[in-house]
Amino acid sequence: MRTYCSFLGLHQCATIIPMLDKTIPGRTINIPPRSEIIKSIKEGGDLIAGVFPIHYPRELLRAFGIHPIEIWGPPRVDPSAGVSHLQPYVCSIVRNALAFQQSSGLDIVDLLLVPHACDSLQGLGSVLLDFIQPQQPIIPFYLPRADGDVAKEYLIAELKTLYIQLKIITGKTPSDDELQDAIVKEERYDEKFSELYIAREELPLSTESFYKLVRSREYVPGEDFVNLSDGVLDQRTDAENSYTGIILSGIVPEPMDLFTAVEDFGGRVVADDLACCGRRRYSAGRSQDPFERMAERLLSGPPDWNRGNSIGQRLDYLVEMIDRKKAKGILFYTVKFCEPELFDTPILRKALQSKGVPSLILEFDINDPLTNQALTRIEAFMEMIA
Ligand code: SF4
Repeated sequence: MRTYCSFLGLHQCATIIPMLDKTIPGRTINIPPRSEIIKSIKEGGDLIAGVFPIHYPRELLRAFGIHPIEIWGPPRVDPSAGVSHLQPYVCSIVRNALAFQQSSGLDIVDLLLVPHACDSLQGLGSVLLDFIQPQQPIIPFYLPRADGDVAKEYLIAELKTLYIQLKIITGKTPSDDELQDAIVKEERYDEKFSELYIAREELPLSTESFYKLVRSREYVPGEDFVNLSDGVLDQRTDAENSYTGIILSGIVPEPMDLFTAVEDFGGRVVADDLACCGRRRYSAGRSQDPFERMAERLLSGPPDWNRGNSIGQRLDYLVEMIDRKKAKGILFYTVKFCEPELFDTPILRKALQSKGVPSLILEFDINDPLTNQALTRIEAFMEMIA
């Protein structure tokens, strides 16, 4: 079993992997907290970027010696510090992010990258840039809302703009070779991410622990993510299939005990269409030009409204996933006031229904625990499709 760990050091990592061994019989996993990772990265001399959802070029940040730590909320913070700057109908991910920033939770990061995933995130970027003006540089990042060559051309230009902004902040000018090196590394980490998905039913982990592991890609350095993943992949067992499989679609699975709740009702999430997870299974690029290759990668993910994919493309993708995973239904788990998801979901559900695929929609706020009402609806759904 691999024990090398670049951010905690060999000795400390040797304590993580045995912890993993001990906890596998209970199908759980221990992953170092963000605070420990940030401290270790800072001590190593790299900068930290706080990155908001959803898509961005990790490799470009890494080429400049910047480690991305993603900010999906965070959940369960006091949201009151951010509410005066936002409309009451803004989603809890953006509301919490601003509250966290206003409560000094982001003071540790050296820059903030705000991809334009949706109007709420674009609004957050504007509030930060124009009103709050925090100590760190704020960098917006725009994705094309289209397919094909036009999208690639646009994205290449956007990546070059980001390169210049990072050059100004860091004073570094990574060469094409250094960019390619960073790209190839991230492609390897993404391959490991996909390997976990392919082997998920054979892994000695509960679904909640599986998602803790894949979501550690949001903040754990790539080499350490590979080591953690290999520690689990090395212990594959025979797949067990005495459950009713469902697909989870949405932005982020919070609270994470959602997975355990589904298991308690005899089900299991066997695949996902989550913005923080499955919608970011990028493929390796092919171009020898680093900017083109980064663009190829970002455009290679599964269908997502965020990159302008149609509802029809999303439907085909979900139907194929249902068939391949022999799932019995889809749970649309949607953040309250998440307009882009709420635009697609009714049409998707209707189309799925016409194909005989049952679905359930639940809305949630990332500060809330799973309510009794939500549990009752999940239980009824699982009973209906079993
Ligand atoms: S939950 Fe929806 S509205 Fe909120 S930041 Fe994410 S994509 Fe945007």
